[in-house]
Amino acid sequence: MGTLTMRNPATGEVLGTLPEATPEEAQQAMERARQAFSLWGSTPVAARIHYLRNLRHYLVENGEALAQKISEATGKVALEAYMTEIFITADTIRFYEKHAERMLAPRKVSTPLALAPKTSSIYYKPMGVIAVISPWNYPFQLSVVPVLSALAAGNTVILKPSEVTPSVGLIIEEMFRAVPAPAEIVQVLHGGREAGQALVAARPDKIFFTGSVASGKKIMAQAAEHLIPVELELGGKDPMIVLEDAHLERAAAGAVWGAFTNSGQVCMSVERVYVQERVYPEFLRLVKEKTAALRQSPSGIGEIGSMTSPDQIRIVREHVEEALSRGAVAETGGTFSDEGMFLAPTILTKVTHDMKIMREETFGPVLPIMTFSAEEEAIRLANDSPYGLNASVWSQDKAKARRVALQLASGNVCINDVIVSYANPALPFGGVKESGIGRYRGPEGLQAFTHPVSVIHDPGKRKREINWYPYTEEQQSLFIGLTHTLYGKSGFWPPIKRGERPPLLKAALREWRRLFR
Ligand code: NAD
Repeated sequence: MGTLTMRNPATGEVLGTLPEATPEEAQQAMERARQAFSLWGSTPVAARIHYLRNLRHYLVENGEALAQKISEATGKVALEAYMTEIFITADTIRFYEKHAERMLAPRKVSTPLALAPKTSSIYYKPMGVIAVISPWNYPFQLSVVPVLSALAAGNTVILKPSEVTPSVGLIIEEMFRAVPAPAEIVQVLHGGREAGQALVAARPDKIFFTGSVASGKKIMAQAAEHLIPVELELGGKDPMIVLEDAHLERAAAGAVWGAFTNSGQVCMSVERVYVQERVYPEFLRLVKEKTAALRQSPSGIGEIGSMTSPDQIRIVREHVEEALSRGAVAETGGTFSDEGMFLAPTILTKVTHDMKIMREETFGPVLPIMTFSAEEEAIRLANDSPYGLNASVWSQDKAKARRVALQLASGNVCINDVIVSYANPALPFGGVKESGIGRYRGPEGLQAFTHPVSVIHDPGKRKREINWYPYTEEQQSLFIGLTHTLYGKSGFWPPIKRGERPPLLKAALREWRRLFR
């Protein structure tokens, strides 16, 4: 059994250690989760939502202390921890309090005429035990929001938080202990990749994974052995398109925040900017000015904290140094020391589309900028990527902005803003291409934690059905007639017997009733 070290990346201070879960513990957790499901799965939605409301109260009362602990575990600015981990989670709970019952309520749908007098409905039934496997960049929110969504839909959950920020896994475990539930509906398995693999091997009913493309593919392959459904929220290389009629001051401020917030360790960071030639000099001047004003501080009020993982620093350095060696220019930053976890915010110009910095996920405080001349070129460059998570389009012309936005191969698009798609819990969130599979948040995202069970209900009063045995000539004529009447060009019933006038739909129905009463 391994041990995880809890560390503050900004200061290097060791906060403690935590034992990693073994495969046997994963198996035992699964058995307990299944037992808890037998109760929670049949608990009415209103009662589940009541539990979520208690969690919201806990979050609000303990929010500042929690944000401080998250900041210590990640190196992110405490204000960012509060806004993006506590506030967003509380807001999501509120959304479920208002809308979950409606989104999970059985729904009547239309029934085709040929199936009359049946009625048709969809029931959203919980799936069972959901495995949530989460990353380190927003280690609280990206664990808790999927967990709450799974719970609201009636599932029980086993969470495997990131080994890079194990202390956040611990505070999540404490939160679920502090707000008592009717059964053990959430369990936390601490550990790294092996603990994650053991969780998948314990055969949950669904896997909700947030993390890198490489791990997502491995998890999907392991899950395929048992046909376990997976939802994958993966990486991004989000483009920002600044058209010449954009509000430049706002666009520059958006670019700087979008690229450097959380030290660029955001799946929806602004990872590449395309600016229309005419406004490029002014845009560049503004982003440089705004970047120069940023305060990088390990504590207190500052805009940029430290990086969270040394492995990520190696990737950022590799991308920046490759770009510089091939002719890119560092307008700010661009230098690296072998010590410490703080990276200077870096603006790169003279980049080309074959550099790693424009193709691979950098996940660090880097803002590479290219120019374009025509709208079509910007769209082509933005779509020239294996990723498709989020994108932003900047223009004051509504129609133009929307036209460009809708041509981007991306799961989410912001117009005149960045990253914010995730902030509205009513919007489905997820990627296209290598950015992932599935959606969470919004009605689609909540229903994704259910099996939509279709129920078709016949009153059961007739002795047989139109399509049952024995087959007769009349039945054959009836089907041909119905097909012509309902779906054909003329809408007429073809003659049943030679010389007879073609009756209309009414006659077809009369015949139907006579035959199958
Ligand atoms: P990662 O893939 O290294 O790890 C994520 C989680 O998966 C961790 O808990 C890890 O222990 C576990 N894991 C890794 N391999 C596994 C395996 N084979 N089986 C089971 N579990 C396994 O990702 P990371 O470095 O923690 O996170 C950064 C990545 O996450 C970036 O690519 C980022 O873009 C992406 N991300 C995506 C979103 C989104 O919503 N699309 C949000 C945040 C982060």
